[in-house]
Amino acid sequence: MTIKKILVLHTGGTISMHEDQDGDVETGLENPLTGVKTTLPNVDLTVESIFNLPSEHIGPVHMLQLQRRILDAEDNFDGVVITHGTDTLEETSFFLDSTLSVDFPIVMTGAMRSSNELGSDGIYNYQSALRVAVNDGSRNRGVLVVMNDEIHAARFVTKTHTTNVATFGSPISGTMGLLTKRQVIYFYNLPHRHVLPITDVQKTIPVLKAYAGMDGQLLELLAASHIDGLVIEALGAGNLSREAATGVLYLLSRHIPVVIVSRSFNGVAEPVYDYLGGGVQLERDGAIFATSINGQKARLKLLIGLNNQLSDNDLYDYLHQL
Ligand code: ASP
Repeated sequence: MTIKKILVLHTGGTISMHEDQDGDVETGLENPLTGVKTTLPNVDLTVESIFNLPSEHIGPVHMLQLQRRILDAEDNFDGVVITHGTDTLEETSFFLDSTLSVDFPIVMTGAMRSSNELGSDGIYNYQSALRVAVNDGSRNRGVLVVMNDEIHAARFVTKTHTTNVATFGSPISGTMGLLTKRQVIYFYNLPHRHVLPITDVQKTIPVLKAYAGMDGQLLELLAASHIDGLVIEALGAGNLSREAATGVLYLLSRHIPVVIVSRSFNGVAEPVYDYLGGGVQLERDGAIFATSINGQKARLKLLIGLNNQLSDNDLYDYLHQL
């Protein structure tokens, strides 16, 4: 039996927390996961607590640190498992997926119930992530998210529920795979992944959600505050009120890239309507439609694109491609 060398990187989150006497969940001095042994026979684990942070405290600087640690590990390990808070797990997984072209499995997991809560899902999800990481079928699939017996692709996964253990879903693509008691099963392969390097994450890119009656004032204020780009979660297939569309024009006239995604939970944003505020006119004016990703992921993709000095058509193509 081949022994697989797996690097485990704990970063914190509920999976590493516990409940106190009042039922409040907090981070302890010691991560309860560090003492957990795997029941898998063919694994040699190297365990590092790279951070011990709630995932709301994790940002692109931490993601870059994780990315570098994984690049360093490439020649010495057969896979990586990362435990992480679920609130921003989809962002860290997307960042790593978009910037790492390693072919070994990178599997992220977390928990919705902390270590001493009834029905705690942490150790179970951790063991599941290890099972996926040692599985040969998990190679060359980009970053995977494993929770609640399901395997999701970083590109499509999102947190769908505030508290349910079945919180992660891939509304556009569907679940990529399953864990049963004996097997790791994949249902499909992903379309080609476009990976770009990243060296610097210092850019100001806010995300705005559109709403009925949105005016353009906020957009003009943002233009004056020296942002590097803006992501708008637009209405439906990617439309805005007339006033917001005028604000977008103003941003574009100041050479600030504006990326359009949808505030709808499911589906792909694309230009359909040809009137002021409609997607066709927004695109004609220079706004970029990002395909199949939500606002938080589009923000990271724009950050990566700008870090690679992409502009105009190149930036459009990068954000628009799946
Ligand atoms: N607030 C927690 C975090 O993201 C939630 C979790 O881990 O499930 O760190």
